[in-house]
Amino acid sequence: MVQDCIFCKIVAGEIPSNQVYADEFVIAFHDINPQAPTHILVIPRKHISDMNEASPQDQALLGHMMLCASKIAADAGLAESGYRLVLNTGPDARQSVFHIHLHILGGRPLSGQMG
Ligand code: AMP
Repeated sequence: MVQDCIFCKIVAGEIPSNQVYADEFVIAFHDINPQAPTHILVIPRKHISDMNEASPQDQALLGHMMLCASKIAADAGLAESGYRLVLNTGPDARQSVFHIHLHILGGRPLSGQMG
């Protein structure tokens, strides 16, 4: 656990979250400031700041996050309508929380603009 990391505190149960999924490796919870009707974050229990810090050792964990995201999206009813997975890294991507997280966005047609 990294001191002053808000998502580490959520993993530790020190800060509440609206959790929708948890297993040995990841947890998922609703974003506090949703950008779409469904906006869920999937985060690893392990602290990884961003994709720049991710290493080959994290390969299975990152794959697990993706597969959990698809299951969570399906459970949220998004499999047919579709959804977007977003993982921001660094200032140009406007990353604001430096504990890696996968956004699941869906529930309405999303912007056609990717950048
Ligand atoms: P990013 O800009 O990719 O770093 O996204 C960080 C996301 O974390 C934003 O969408 C925030 O709304 C969300 N967020 C920040 N604090 C919390 C929190 N305590 N619970 C849920 N979501 C949060």
